[in-house]
Amino acid sequence: MDTVDTPLDLVIAGGRVIDPGQGRNGPLEVGICAGRIAAVASSLPRAAGTQVLDAGGRLVVPGLIDLHTHLFDGISALGVAADATCLPAGVTTAVDAGTAGEVAFGRFRRGWIDQARTRVFAFVNLSSIGLIIDDGLEFGDRELRYVNVDRIVETIAEHRDVCLGIKVRVARNQTAPPRLHRPLDRALEAAERSGTRLMVHITEPGIPLDSVFDRLRPGDIVTHLFHGRAETIIAADGHVLASLRRARERGVWTDVGHGGGSFTYRTARAALADGFEPDTISTDLHAFSLVGAMKDLPTTMTKFLALGMPLERVIAAATVNAARAISQPGVTGTLAVGGPADVAILEEVEGPVTLADVTGEGLEADRALRAWRTVRAGTVTTAGTVATEGSRTPA
Ligand SMILES: [Zn+2]
Repeated sequence: MDTVDTPLDLVIAGGRVIDPGQGRNGPLEVGICAGRIAAVASSLPRAAGTQVLDAGGRLVVPGLIDLHTHLFDGISALGVAADATCLPAGVTTAVDAGTAGEVAFGRFRRGWIDQARTRVFAFVNLSSIGLIIDDGLEFGDRELRYVNVDRIVETIAEHRDVCLGIKVRVARNQTAPPRLHRPLDRALEAAERSGTRLMVHITEPGIPLDSVFDRLRPGDIVTHLFHGRAETIIAADGHVLASLRRARERGVWTDVGHGGGSFTYRTARAALADGFEPDTISTDLHAFSLVGAMKDLPTTMTKFLALGMPLERVIAAATVNAARAISQPGVTGTLAVGGPADVAILEEVEGPVTLADVTGEGLEADRALRAWRTVRAGTVTTAGTVATEGSRTPA
């Protein structure tokens, strides 16, 4: 048992802790002091002022990480407010997937990222105008007239603590002739020069996916893994593309990015049947997916349980794996002692419940994960609302 020198502010008791990064899975208590994890043990001491949160029968896991979100609300048509959508869903760390281009990134950082209670990281869009403009069907990042690699490199250098790399799409409208490989060329150039990673959107690819996967480097991230539009990751023989397997062996990360149109059971089932699970499960949370089949991260995780992925690996895909993908393994996705007290308490709601993919296909799950409480830096938030309970000040 960990020794506890100072009185604990909060003890989360009665739950089953699943912390794949720490190899923990069992009935344990989590002790929190001054916004940090102070101890994890089968029984922890209560002092006079210690608040006890009874998580009986629930799962106590590291605060979830959503690797693909759009949080520039009020500016981008895709944007949703971080704290109102992430914390109620058990998400304590969110990664914005290139909503802002280099032009707006500084403003996004100061006015949104720095103001959120949710910990937010972001990719800068390859296109200077990012995903701000929506002409009804397409977003501004198809405008590759506006790519300034020098400015991208400067922007990343200025915001290196929150900016993880460059978001690029290889969709048809970006790669239509004569541009073909140009978006990926420029994005790789910017990633090389800035010493960062790419997040690559592969829905409706306008160039062969082999030609994308073969160029990705260790640490780069493929998102929208299980989309069903145009060429998918499943080859004609029914197996996952060999180029994607090779990429993953090199250290490329594979991410779900459910979204409003980028997740199909058909592709996911074929990949899982071929022994290919996603490294990370993320939502592609935005103004439209939020009110569609995606809903939230626990719901997206539930779909993988229903597809047969074991619970511990589903939790890992939204915690430790995502933390490693963004090179923040000690900062997020863990209940390690000394780390930030970011915790998600999930309940398993008895089913059956039918969950749809983006095509409307339904899949029956015998249980559904739902966020019950979220703890961010030691403060408890009730799931479903953003009202805080002031856990640090005992009643
Ligand atoms: Zn997205």
